[in-house]
Amino acid sequence: MSREIYLFIILLICYCCNSQKTSKRSNNVNNVQFKIEKSNEQWKKDLTSMEFYVLRQAGTERPFSGKYDKHYKSGFYVCAACNNPLYDSKYKYDSKSGWPSFDRGIDKSILLDIDYDLGYPRTELKCISCGSHLGHMFKDGPKNTTGNRHCINSVALKFIPKKNEF
Ligand SMILES: [Zn+2]
Repeated sequence: MSREIYLFIILLICYCCNSQKTSKRSNNVNNVQFKIEKSNEQWKKDLTSMEFYVLRQAGTERPFSGKYDKHYKSGFYVCAACNNPLYDSKYKYDSKSGWPSFDRGIDKSILLDIDYDLGYPRTELKCISCGSHLGHMFKDGPKNTTGNRHCINSVALKFIPKKNEF
């Protein structure tokens, strides 16, 4: 076998492996069974119209408009749709972006997905328990910790003060 053909076969195998990985990942995310599943009609009944727009339709609240943007009390932030604990207040910081920002979520509470809504891939953050949209993750977070910025809609969160620790 000539060297060129050998290299070509290796490249072909790599390409196939990668495309399989990519399609498997997106399938996994799309086919995730959430602990809490409801019809759109039921979500509409259970949420305010703004909560439905953000959590179930992946909408975004206006920057600097959310109640938790400059909120720094000690406690936990849970999913506004299902009460799943998502963020500890100790990981919240002021990114000056106009949205509540955290450098990480509570372990195994958040699902990472990819969306192409703006024509390029962004890491979308969803509640692992009900699949509701929370916001996006960017790589411009605090360099001295994770380097990640979880950019979250206030309306997707509900704050629980620390005295009611889970
Ligand atoms: Zn949830």
